[in-house]
Amino acid sequence: MRALSYTQISLYQNCPLCYKLQYIDGLESKEKGYFSFGTTMHDCAEYFFKVKVPPPPSLEQMLDFYERKWLSEGYESAEEEAEYKAYGREMLTKFCEIHQPDFRMPIAVEHKFTIDIGNVKLTGRIDRVDKLDSGGLAVIDYKTNLELFTKEYLDNDLQLTLYQLAVEQSWFLPVERLTLYHFRSNTPVSCPPRKPARLEEARRLVLEVAEGIQAGNFPATESGRCPCDFPQYCPYYKHKFAPERGESDVLDEAAVPQSVERYVALQKEIKGLELELDELKQTIADYCQAQGLNRVFGKGHALTYKMVERGGYSEPEVRALLEPAGLWPRVLGFDQYKLRELIKDEAVASELRKKLTELKQVVSAKPQLWVRRLAGEE
Ligand code: SF4
Repeated sequence: MRALSYTQISLYQNCPLCYKLQYIDGLESKEKGYFSFGTTMHDCAEYFFKVKVPPPPSLEQMLDFYERKWLSEGYESAEEEAEYKAYGREMLTKFCEIHQPDFRMPIAVEHKFTIDIGNVKLTGRIDRVDKLDSGGLAVIDYKTNLELFTKEYLDNDLQLTLYQLAVEQSWFLPVERLTLYHFRSNTPVSCPPRKPARLEEARRLVLEVAEGIQAGNFPATESGRCPCDFPQYCPYYKHKFAPERGESDVLDEAAVPQSVERYVALQKEIKGLELELDELKQTIADYCQAQGLNRVFGKGHALTYKMVERGGYSEPEVRALLEPAGLWPRVLGFDQYKLRELIKDEAVASELRKKLTELKQVVSAKPQLWVRRLAGEE
């Protein structure tokens, strides 16, 4: 199993398919101006703090380094690049004003680590680690995000949690502070370190992600960040790209957009047409299933397809477990609501509740279609 970084874990959590396309299939994501900008600003902070002895570089040296390290890739226009460049200069000027007077040598800058979590290697690079007067350590991560971080964001930031794990393993000193440094406003936002239970939770999450990857579990999972850089490979978007690829399908390609529009029209008609609607739905669902698609596109609409499963329990299996424990009367008539309540009841032996939970199975599965109106091209 290859080593996992925070970026990979977070991408897998967001969309396992996108992770696979990028890190297993090796597709390159598009260059973006804000990524180039973030890289340059990180390089400058590293240059400032990575001196062998104080003092740190002067403002003039910093701005000279900034010019040399500037990356032009990914900006949408020369104007946009110029705006970012001027803004970066302002940010660095403020950065020097703040950090030159109280400069202290950090313990580490751009610290590379690889630690073991179970049989998984977690790897990464921490922007800065400081030693505090109390003897403990502070983890600092620079961010060029637009908005300042909220308390909730900070409390739930997985990257800081994983970095705390790595730092405590690297130096055997306690981490006493976790900081995200908001570069745009030159504001450090800090919180106390994670408690052992949170660290354990993060370890489990790393192991779960690694298990998912090893099991080849890569479902496409939509979020506000969609479409990513690889929509042509995604079951939610690839139908849009089929004509470009010159692919012909079982269902005549020209009929798909018509079917989608017909489906939407039928929805609006009177009840008597419901039968026809259902038939069309089934045709589209079969098509999606046969083609491995989660979405098909017409001209003005798209249909999202999913097989919706309903979970439940089989009566003989549950009865066989509950009767010997004298608990069968608690779910009399095999009432699924009462059964769920019993599973939650901490007075019932945990082993029995675990076994009952494991009995849960898919009792029905129905195809469902959701209509989405497309705005303009999209
Ligand atoms: S477009 Fe598809 S593959 Fe890309 S992130 Fe969204 S769901 Fe995942």
